[in-house]
Amino acid sequence: MNFKIVTIPGDGIGPEIVREAQKVLEKVATVYGHKFCFEKVLMGGCSIDAYGEPLTDETIETCKSADAVLMGSIGGKVGQSSWYELPPEKRPEAGLLKLRKSLGLFCNLRPAHLYPELKKACPLRESIADQGFDVMMVRELTGGLYFGTRKTEVVDGEEVATDTLVYHDYEIRRIAEKAFEIASKRQCHVTSVDKANVLDSSRLWRKIVTEVGKAHPDIALDHALVDSTAMQLVRNPGQFDVVVTENMFGDILSDEMAEIAGSLGMLPSASLREDSFGLYEPSGGSAPDIAGLNVANPLATILSAAMLLRYSFNLSKEADAVEAAVAETLTAGLRTADIMEDGVSGLTRLSTSEMGDQVAARIR
Ligand code: NAD
Repeated sequence: MNFKIVTIPGDGIGPEIVREAQKVLEKVATVYGHKFCFEKVLMGGCSIDAYGEPLTDETIETCKSADAVLMGSIGGKVGQSSWYELPPEKRPEAGLLKLRKSLGLFCNLRPAHLYPELKKACPLRESIADQGFDVMMVRELTGGLYFGTRKTEVVDGEEVATDTLVYHDYEIRRIAEKAFEIASKRQCHVTSVDKANVLDSSRLWRKIVTEVGKAHPDIALDHALVDSTAMQLVRNPGQFDVVVTENMFGDILSDEMAEIAGSLGMLPSASLREDSFGLYEPSGGSAPDIAGLNVANPLATILSAAMLLRYSFNLSKEADAVEAAVAETLTAGLRTADIMEDGVSGLTRLSTSEMGDQVAARIR
């Protein structure tokens, strides 16, 4: 099959980690007989340097013309980079927010998978880490408290701040549909998280998710309160498959999940819209402290590329092959510096490009 992938290497380690993910995708194309056409665009600090703004209209149009976008990361070090002397709307991060909005990306996916080889990086009790986990967080990205009207005023001499949490039924329905679709490609289990014992928006959330669930009788659905979920994620993360929730709850729970999964260099993510289009990127930032040294871990970006194959191109076999290649690489004891364990025998430290080579070589 033929697909167009726009890459946004970005700043810092971005170009190094995207190069390795592209290497792996090119190997997938060769082994499975596809044609992936890559087009590179600038965003973030490098775009400011080249065009005076973090995201140009041309870049947005190029992204819109693609079947999927693969991104590295953007931004520099505040206090060291001249990009941060610009007004906030001209800084690197403004480009990313504008791009997500322009592309209509409302669904954020953050998987947290604990590889047995990396379980020492998991801060949970050994008996819990030993059982492993593989949770997919599906977070609504464009509604709720972060997008409601807000104000701060003085009432009777007191300062009063108000934020509003609004959800429309269609916003809940479309994210619920995504969650069920994703669960159908995994363990067929959705946990919908809300605060329905207190919030009206959560009661509507629960009602709509239940309705959507009835159309997917092959997928198990349960509902959980956000406070209980925060607790269960550290007590028994293995019980979850797909967790779907609204914007703020997802923001908080996905960071909790990232923490229990261990290394930042291993965490992919995706932002999707209603059709198959998506933007795929590692969860970490541009790591200016190690940029240009060929030591960054490219696995989160390579795993983001696997998500791209699965969710935008519907190429599950190919996505499985990439994930299996990453797992085999770890089993072979190959590590970048960030996931190296001191004093453990049988481990070999690799550079960014060597890690990409090793994963690509294992694509079958
Ligand atoms: P960071 O994630 O870049 O780095 C935090 C620590 O993790 C650093 O020690 C870094 O070396 C390490 N790290 C991150 N990714 C790694 C990888 N793949 N391999 C090995 N080590 C890795 O966070 P930060 O330092 O707070 O932010 C740096 C810049 O990145 C800032 O400008 C920030 O705004 C930006 N940022 C961008 C995105 C994005 O592009 N989506 C996300 C987060 C932060």
